[in-house]
This record gives sequence, structure tokens and C-alpha cells, in this order.
Amino acid sequence: MGILGKRIKTDIIIIGGGLTGVCAAVAARRTGARVLLLEKNQFLGGMATGAWIHSCLTFHGKKGHKIVGGIPQEIIDKLVAVGGSPGHIRDTIGVAYSVTPTDPEKLKLILQTLLDKEGVRYFLDTRFTDAEMDGNRINSIRGINCAGTFEAEAPAYIDASGEGILAATAGDSFESGRDGKTQPATLIFKVRNVDIKKAVEYALNNRGDFHHETIFSLLETSPAPGLSGFFTLWNRANLSVPRDRLLFYQTLYGDEVGINSTRIPDFDPLDPYNVTFSQKKARIQMFEILNFLKDWIPGFEKCVLTGEAPLMGIREVRRIKGKYFLKGEDLLVGRRFPDEVALGGFPIDIHTPGSSTIESDEIGADGYYGIPYRCLLPERTPNLLIAGKCVSADFFAHASARVQATSMAMGQAAGAAAAIAVLKGVEPVDLNTEDVKKAVVKLGGILSPDTIDDLL
Ligand SMILES: Cc1cc2nc3c(=O)[nH]c(=O)nc-3n(C[C@H](O)[C@H](O)[C@H](O)COP(=O)(O)OP(=O)(O)OC[C@H]3O[C@@H](n4cnc5c(N)ncnc54)[C@H](O)[C@@H]3O)c2cc1C
Repeated sequence: MGILGKRIKTDIIIIGGGLTGVCAAVAARRTGARVLLLEKNQFLGGMATGAWIHSCLTFHGKKGHKIVGGIPQEIIDKLVAVGGSPGHIRDTIGVAYSVTPTDPEKLKLILQTLLDKEGVRYFLDTRFTDAEMDGNRINSIRGINCAGTFEAEAPAYIDASGEGILAATAGDSFESGRDGKTQPATLIFKVRNVDIKKAVEYALNNRGDFHHETIFSLLETSPAPGLSGFFTLWNRANLSVPRDRLLFYQTLYGDEVGINSTRIPDFDPLDPYNVTFSQKKARIQMFEILNFLKDWIPGFEKCVLTGEAPLMGIREVRRIKGKYFLKGEDLLVGRRFPDEVALGGFPIDIHTPGSSTIESDEIGADGYYGIPYRCLLPERTPNLLIAGKCVSADFFAHASARVQATSMAMGQAAGAAAAIAVLKGVEPVDLNTEDVKKAVVKLGGILSPDTIDDLL
């Protein structure tokens, strides 16, 4: 049992304290259940805080419909109140309608304060290691932390690990990547002492050298502009980094930008040799790009490395097979589902595995799509929900649904559903979907978008 003494008993156990897990935990508490959450990092927020993904995408469909609300919006509101975000702004790169810049350090504080206020029991620096099964059901789980190993049990579980580790351990099947290769990994790093005005001026004078959807008219006024391109300079420099462009977003602090340009194209998140090699390789690339920035990019001549993100950014690990496997074609037609419990509005954005390029496709219809409750239900395990980066989706649909605002919306739905199931004494798989939808809406979630935001 370890130093924690006895087997912990609760209503819902959540693996992972990323944005998905936090939203799930809060939703479950507000729906009336007790929660235990395990997070292997020493902080909450997952990729958003640990990998410095400080551009949250996206609370809006491509035509400006507000599609994500409730707990995810509350987190942003709290961040805005402490100067940790300007709120939703137009995405100057033009890929999404809106982007929400965040300060990762303030976000960590907001997330832990929220869990504390809601009475969520959670352990940081605590890793889920194993599950004890009773047939197809998860009976209990084991974890490890500074106290040693411990056991915990609950009638319902949520896999918000991003890696689908609980579902896979329970025996659910999954896919990973396309033709054996996942989207590349990227180590984000930040540089400061950047003259961003100079970089923007270059963009304004060389418009053909940037992503074709770039909103040039907003570059000078945006509180956190992003740029994707510098194609000519990148090509001329002939870097060893297998990527076709420089991509960055300014952080909230004027002369600092987060660089999203390292790339490990043959990444295998399930092979420890590959993961170790990739982390070392990404660091080498970071210093190569740093020199490139100083030598080639206007405004970056005197830039200084702030640091590398504590975690390498991993876009995809396991996509768990659920009762419904969301498909790329669903997104291309902006499909809506009778049992949808969350909406997504980010385009299909694939950093091509094994290559330097990006593949993208627009969301059809009104620029957003539904995520059915069945995508949160793994095929095999009846008392488990999956949400966020490990959701049930094919390679294409996942390339959209994996982003932060969509993941938070899924987490919110999973938390509500798990709590209803526990309170009713049934399995999540046996719930009436209308009850889940009602609970999501009660939490502030948006399932019938009726507001179009006119953002600046
Ligand atoms: C390079 C890169 C760029 C991206 N760019 C953007 C962007 O610009 N905008 C955007 O919105 N999204 C972007 N994303 C995607 C987005 O950040 C993530 O997909 C999203 O944050 C997923 O959230 P999550 O909570 O589902 O998963 P994660 O953030 O991965 O969180 C999962 C959590 O579970 C924990 N965990 C895992 N295993 C265990 C275990 N065994 N025990 C305990 N805890 C465990 C992890 O430590 C982690 O904290 C990007 C991703 C990458 C990698």
C-alpha cells in the first residue's frame, strides 16, 4: 500500500492533470462527485504549461461562432484577471479564427487554485502505473510517488493522460500515427530581446513569403502576433532541421517570442530509444535555429535564449478506439451528431510525419463540428472515459481535435458524464446522452452556437 497507508476510495479517478484532466475534475466536482487526480509532472497543465504551448486554439469556429464555454472559458477569464492572457484575439497566422495567448506560469497557478477551490484531491509528481481489472472493468489502479506505490479505486475512471495509458493498460485498442509514424515532436523554446516591430515590418514588405492566410492588417496591433513563413530566408539558410518554415508567436511580454520550429519527423512516442534520441536531437536543432534567428531574421539579431520548454511537445501518442472513431471526413463536412457533447473548430493541421511540410484542410459547413459522446467511450472498458489528446479519432480528425480548447471541452463533458454515472450507479456507457448534454450545458458548455464574436 505504501506510505499513503490504505487503499484510497473515491468516486472518479482521473489520470492526467493537463487542461483536459483539470476541466474533467472540475466538471465532475460541480456535478456532485468526489475526484482523485494523478499527475506525473510537478505542475498542472500538461503540454500547455510544460511544453510552453502558449497559444490556445480555439474557442471559435472558422466563421467566428463561439463554440467552447463553461470551465475552459472560466480558466481564461481567471487568466485575463491576473494579466496572464489578453483573452481571445484573432489568429494573425489565419489558420484559426481566434487564438488565446496564455502565460504558462500563471496558467499553472490558476489551474491549481481552481482544483483547490473545487475540492479536487490530487497528487502531483505521481504516476499511474497499472490497473487491476475485473473482466473488462477497471477495479482499481496503482500509482507511484515519493511515498512508494499505492492503490486507489473508484466506480468510474477518466483517461486524460494524453497518452491513453490507462485505456491501453485496461486492454483497449488504439492507433498511433499514420503508416507507423506519428506527427513530429517539437521542442518549443523562447527567445527574448526581439525587436518584433522589425520582424513584422519584414513580413509586411514580403507578404508572399508567409502563410497564405496571414492577416497582415492585424500584425501591428495584435497584442501577441504570430508569424508562419520566412520561407525564403529559411530555405537560403539551408538548416539541417527538416521543416519548411519558421513559426512563432510573440508571448505576452513584448520582446519575447516562443519558437515552434524544431521538428523530429520520425518520432515514435512509444519507443524509449526514439524518445531519448528525439529529445537530444531537438535540443541540437534549437541551438541551430537560435543561430539562424540571429543571423537571418530581421529583429532577432540580438535575441537571447530564455530557455527550452521543460517538456518536449508531443502531438500524438495513442488514439484510443472508442464506440465512435471520429473521422477526417466528418470534419470536412462540419458534421453534427445527435449525441455530441463538445464542439471543435480548429482545421485539420498535420505536421506531416517523416517530412518537413504541413498538410491542412478546412472544417466544412459553419467551420465547426461535433464530437459525439461515443468518442469518449472506449470500445471495451465500460467504466472508463477518454478525453483530450487520446480521444477516439482517426489520424486526420485527431489533427484538429487534439488542440487545447477542444480538449478542454471534451474534458468538461467527460467529467460531467462520469459524475452522472456514479451518482446514478450506472456505467458511463449506459448513460442517456441527453443527460450528459444537459449537464454540459449547465456547466456553461456550448452545444448550440448562437453567438458570433467579432474579434480584433
Ligand atoms: C509542439 C506542439 C504544438 C502545439 N500547438 C498547439 C497550439 O498552438 N494550440 C493549441 O491549442 N494546441 C496545440 N498543441 C496541442 C495541445 O497543446 C495538446 O494536444 C493539448 O494540450 C492536450 O491536452 P491534454 O490535457 O489532453 O493532454 P496533455 O497536455 O498531454 O496532458 C496530459 C497529462 O497527463 C499526464 N500523464 C501522462 N501519463 C501519466 C501517468 N502515467 N500518470 C500521471 N499522469 C500522466 C501528463 O504529465 C500530462 O500532464 C500543440 C502540441 C504540440 C506538441
